[in-house]
Amino acid sequence: MKLTLKKGREVRLLALILFVITTAIGLIPPTAMAQSVSLPPLPDPALLTDPVFARPGYAQVALPFAGRTRYLLSVEINPAQGLLYGRARVLFVNRTGGTLSSVIFRLYPNHPVHGNRQMKINSVQVNGAAAAGNVLDPEGTVYEVPLSSAIPSGSGVTFDFEYTISLPGGSFYYLSEPLPLVAVYDYSGWRQEVATKGLDYAYNESALFAVNLRAPTEAQTRFVGALKGAVDNLDGTTTYTIVTGPVRNFVIIQARGWGSFELNAAVPIHVLYSGDLSVAQQIGEIAVNAFNYFDANFGAYPYAAFDLVVMRFPSGGEEYPSLVFVNNAEGFRYRRFITAHEVAHQWFYGIAGNDILRNAWLDESLVQVASYLMYLKTQYGSVNAAEEYWTHVMTWYNRIQVVRPINTALEDFTDFADYMSTIYGGGAVFMRELAETMGVDAFIAGLGDYVRAVNLEIGSPCGFYFAMQNRATVDLRSMFRDRVGITC
Ligand SMILES: [Zn+2]
Repeated sequence: MKLTLKKGREVRLLALILFVITTAIGLIPPTAMAQSVSLPPLPDPALLTDPVFARPGYAQVALPFAGRTRYLLSVEINPAQGLLYGRARVLFVNRTGGTLSSVIFRLYPNHPVHGNRQMKINSVQVNGAAAAGNVLDPEGTVYEVPLSSAIPSGSGVTFDFEYTISLPGGSFYYLSEPLPLVAVYDYSGWRQEVATKGLDYAYNESALFAVNLRAPTEAQTRFVGALKGAVDNLDGTTTYTIVTGPVRNFVIIQARGWGSFELNAAVPIHVLYSGDLSVAQQIGEIAVNAFNYFDANFGAYPYAAFDLVVMRFPSGGEEYPSLVFVNNAEGFRYRRFITAHEVAHQWFYGIAGNDILRNAWLDESLVQVASYLMYLKTQYGSVNAAEEYWTHVMTWYNRIQVVRPINTALEDFTDFADYMSTIYGGGAVFMRELAETMGVDAFIAGLGDYVRAVNLEIGSPCGFYFAMQNRATVDLRSMFRDRVGITC
């Protein structure tokens, strides 16, 4: 009896101590707790080139990227605290051609498109030594990390970041670029734009990512890349190990209560959907047709699978390497149009990358015409191509107020409508005329040449011109000069 009483007192004392501790923890702001969250270990760097990401026979596409900047990521999605906790090891390689005394990172979760979402860097180390970074823009998307000693071109340095990102919450959300990404460095220096006039804003080069992601087991977790393995933990979370291969974006999706099914195209298509199953099936069938047409004509898709997320998506859709979002809220004709458009981005954006902020037509105008060609050349036929598909292009074309060269940088447009009408309308009309000038088959062959030449790198306007001119029997220089605004 006495002993039991004593035990009871001890239990009460322990409970009191625990109460004081948990109350104190509750008073600490979540970001200050970043160090106390025990993240999964960083993935083994050998995973970066693991063939699991690749379609059979395509694993070698990772090899050119194994000597460049790579990302090892450990992430926890913690809904109770409303935060993503992250640790990123960036194996940076200086490919700028010059000596660097600092490296610029982009913190895209701080882009204004995300509203109040906040990404905070809690610590950064350079080759294991603490460093102090500087935010360079009012939005907090440009983060400079000075190096204690400058690094020559061709040499590498390791950055270790600890950070948090606030979670949007709700039963569905996705996190684009949930890590510090090295900014693109080109002839104009580090790219630091905060692009707000168009839909796309994250301009990155392809890189290899290996990720350990811990998320609630009950959530449907999807991502760019392939699943290497998954382990269920005792605390109701699952740790996913992800290998992406060379990709220019990384995205994590959290859904609850959504449907899913699988389709077979040239690679398996995983469909995740909300709303009506029959609409999702219809969009899935369109995706299979489009995928197989593009894969056969514009170069082989290199990844193991393709993720199609069907949902209410007011802007129409959004493209990431190996994953797209497609709007299910409109009628059948629109679904065909937008599904073909988003699937085509796997080739014109994903495989044949481009400077989306200065040469947006190299993905958007090409996607428009590629989808038109899919209609023309498959069971959809020329009647649907003209009446059904092309009307969407003309909607944008007819809104053109000022005729501009198609190769106009995003920041040089007055606003969103000016940009959209020129790139999605005028650019597509130019491409169709180019196809009719060259002959449609020569044009399709030229598109395939262009995709295979760019091959996961960043394509250029003149690279596209030469791919076309090579397949044409007429001189295309004046068309490109007058309409696109380039002389190569
Ligand atoms: Zn697009």
